Amino acid sequence: MAIEFSLTPDQEAFRDAVRAFAQKEILPVVAEMDEREEFPERTVRRMQEEGYFGVPVPEEYGGLGLGKVGYCLLTEELARVDASHTAIVGAHTSLGTTPLLYYGTEEQKRRFLEPAARGQKLLAFSLTEPGSGSDSGALRTVAERDGDGWRLTGTKIYVTNGREADTVLVLAANDLKLGPNGGVTAFLVDKGTDGFRVGRCEKKMGLHGTSTAELILDHVRVGPDRVVGEVGRGFIVAMTALDVGRVSLGAGALGGMQAAAQEALSFAQNRTQFGLPISEYEAIQFKFADMAMLIHALRLLVYQAAAHQDRMGYVPKAWNRLERLVKTRESATVKCLGSEWASQVIDEALQIHGGLGYIRGTPVERAYRDARISEIFEGTNEIQRLVVARDLLSRGW
Ligand SMILES: Cc1cc2nc3c(=O)[nH]c(=O)nc-3n(C[C@H](O)[C@H](O)[C@H](O)COP(=O)(O)OP(=O)(O)OC[C@H]3O[C@@H](n4cnc5c(N)ncnc54)[C@H](O)[C@@H]3O)c2cc1C
Repeated sequence: MAIEFSLTPDQEAFRDAVRAFAQKEILPVVAEMDEREEFPERTVRRMQEEGYFGVPVPEEYGGLGLGKVGYCLLTEELARVDASHTAIVGAHTSLGTTPLLYYGTEEQKRRFLEPAARGQKLLAFSLTEPGSGSDSGALRTVAERDGDGWRLTGTKIYVTNGREADTVLVLAANDLKLGPNGGVTAFLVDKGTDGFRVGRCEKKMGLHGTSTAELILDHVRVGPDRVVGEVGRGFIVAMTALDVGRVSLGAGALGGMQAAAQEALSFAQNRTQFGLPISEYEAIQFKFADMAMLIHALRLLVYQAAAHQDRMGYVPKAWNRLERLVKTRESATVKCLGSEWASQVIDEALQIHGGLGYIRGTPVERAYRDARISEIFEGTNEIQRLVVARDLLSRGW
C-alpha cells in the first residue's frame, strides 16, 4: 500500500481557487437557501460554468481531468461552506458521471458524459426504493424487454437532484429471480420521457438546498443505447459509483468538520466567562485537541484512498481482484469514520457555542443538521461496517 502523498502545484492552485469561489459566491446565499429550502439554482449554474461538475472526468470527455484527488479537494472546500452544494455536485459527479466514465460506451460518453462534465446537463442516481434501502439488490422496479429496448416500471425514492436532473441513472431488475447477481441493469432515463415523472419531494432535517425526490416510472420506454454497462451487471456499476461517492463523502465530512472547528475556535477565543476567554480552559482546549487529531487522521484517510483510486484508473476490466477489494474497504472506512468523526466534531463545536449553538441560523446549527445524513446515505454506517467485516474475515487485516 502506497502512503506517500503530496499535492501538486496544480492541485494546490485548484483548491485555493475553489476556496475563494466558495467564500465569494456560495457563502452569501447559504443562510437564505437553508431557511427557504430552495435549490440554489444561480450558484449551481456558476459552479457548472467553473467546471466543478466534471472535476474527475478526463479533459477528452469535457472534464477538468483532476482525478479523484482533485475531486476530493473540490468537495472538501465546498463542504467548508455548505453541505447542500456539496451534495448536489456529489450526486451528479460520483454517482452520475462515474458509471458513464467507467462503463459507458464511447457514444454514451460523447452524448451524456461530455455535457454533464461541461455543466450543461445535471445528473442523478436512483437506486433506493420504498422496500429496498440497505438491501438495495432487492429492488422491485422492473425492466421488461420491449422490442430491441426496454420498458421500466416502478417507484424510486430519495433521489438527490431528482427534481432538477436532466438525466437519471435508474437501477432496475431485468430478472427479479437473479437479483443483484445478474438481474439488475443500469439505464439512463431523460427528464420528459413519456411515463417518467417526479413525485413527492421530501422535507428534511438538513441539506435544505437539495431535492430528495420520488421518481415514478410507468412503462417508460428506453432504447438499447440507454443501458450502461452490460445487461444484468448494473449492481456492479452502482457499487463502483458508490466507492467513488464514499471517498468524496469523507472529503465533504472533512470540510464540514474543519469549518465547524474553526468557527468554534474563533468563538472560544472571544467568549469570556469567569473572567477569561473560554479557550483558556483545559476542558475546552481538550475538545480542540480531539478535533485536530480527527481532522488530521481523516485527511490522511481521504487522500490516500482518493490517490489509490486515481492510480487504478477508470477501466474496471484492468483492475485485479485484490485492487477492487482494497478500494471497496478503503471507501467504506473513509465513509464510516469520516461521517462519524464529522458528527462528533460538529457536536462539540456546537457545545462550545453554548446556547448560541442551538439558535436557528448560526452556521454550526446548520452544520449539525446537515452532517447527520452522512451516517445514513450512500450506504448506512452499519452497512459500511458489514463491508469491512466481510473483507476482514475473508482476507484478514
Ligand atoms: C437526503 C437523502 C438523500 C439520498 N440520496 C439518494 C440518492 O441520490 N440515490 C439513491 O438511490 N438513494 C438515496 N438516498 C437513500 C439512502 O441511500 C438510503 O436511505 C440508505 O441507504 C438507507 O436505506 P433505508 O433508508 O431504506 O434504511 P434501511 O435499509 O431500512 O435501514 C434501517 C436501519 O437498519 C439498518 N440495517 C439494515 N440492514 C442491516 C443489516 N443487515 N445489518 C445491520 N443493520 C442493518 C440500517 O443501517 C439502518 O440503521 C438518500 C437518502 C436521503 C435521506
